[in-house]
Amino acid sequence: MTARIQKFLADQQPATPCLVIDLDVVRGNYEALARSLPFARIYYAMKANPAPAVMSMLAGMGSSFDTASIYEIREALIAGAPAERISFGNTVKKQSDIAEAYRLGVRLFAFDSEGELEKLAVAAPGAKVYCRLRLELSKTADWPLGGKFGCSLDMARDLLMKAGELGLDAYGVSFHVGSQQRDAGEWDMAVGRAAMLFTDLRERGVNLRLLNVGGGFPAHYRTEAASHADHATALTAALVKHFGNRMPEVLIEPGRSLVGDAGMIRSEVVLVSQKAYDGPRWVYLDIGKFGGLIETMDEAIKYRVTTSRDSDGGESSRVILAGPTCDEVDILYQKTAYHLPDDLRPGDTVDFLSAGAYTSTYSSVCFNGLPPLKTYCV
Ligand SMILES: *Cc1c(COP(=O)(O)O)cnc(C)c1O
Repeated sequence: MTARIQKFLADQQPATPCLVIDLDVVRGNYEALARSLPFARIYYAMKANPAPAVMSMLAGMGSSFDTASIYEIREALIAGAPAERISFGNTVKKQSDIAEAYRLGVRLFAFDSEGELEKLAVAAPGAKVYCRLRLELSKTADWPLGGKFGCSLDMARDLLMKAGELGLDAYGVSFHVGSQQRDAGEWDMAVGRAAMLFTDLRERGVNLRLLNVGGGFPAHYRTEAASHADHATALTAALVKHFGNRMPEVLIEPGRSLVGDAGMIRSEVVLVSQKAYDGPRWVYLDIGKFGGLIETMDEAIKYRVTTSRDSDGGESSRVILAGPTCDEVDILYQKTAYHLPDDLRPGDTVDFLSAGAYTSTYSSVCFNGLPPLKTYCV
């Protein structure tokens, strides 16, 4: 937790649960990424955290934005991003939304199918389009994004040729190595596949210019992951190896790595209980899967957790951590060993560190009447 967040919590004592984002950390992460990949344009994947203060700060710093819906496009415009710095990166879009994005000035669109290409040809004539690739990835991403989107290399080749015939600008390709990618070794295969497609299409007279390498750089959770520096080095090496002196425009879409470590969630213990005299201790919090911690699904993301009793110096033991709602799935960690102080009691605070990404956006509107996760930017 940063000193600025600590001061905010001490001074304001906000009601819990809440998410507090330190904008200085977001700024620092953006600047560090820009320095480590000076050749790449940064399109912030705003679904990670679209808080207006985050959006307008990044827009002011020159960031571009990767959006997934017409609603996100409108938000990005309101934050001050010009339409030329917005991509419509979802490969599944309503034709009416494509048309509105185009009317608003957006000219960069993703696709991964013939059906989408046909919509784009009608609703966004002449726009720059890039094809999302589906890759055979290892299982080293904690939040994979490789199954639902993207098409095979040979289909991508045919679709990019067809894009030109339909009057679109066959601009490039994209992939995503998986969110919270722990292994920097994944870049080599992904960039290599994309480079093969560039060569294949050049031989057929189609000159691709854009490589969109997606997101994947990690935040700091309990499970060890390669550093941002390691990722940047590996990605750069892969680009040099596979593209040499035919380097395309490179676009990167960080989400988690810009905002994850910038935020923390403060929650409160509602109940500590046992279900049998010899059973495990259950700790129920005022936040759970529906309050913004859905990435604990299958215990995929393992947040670092601290409590207001940690400095007491007492004993700790294993607990099951659960949310406050009346839903059986609202358990955060049961298989994973979380040890919390034995003297933890209702009213104590439990903090989730590095919780700035994919929390406020995933929080439900009012399941059991609970309000959505409140965000403070300091
Ligand atoms: C979610 C998403 C991202 C962001 O990924 P991170 O791993 O959070 O950096 C980037 N690109 C696309 C297309 C996405 O869907």
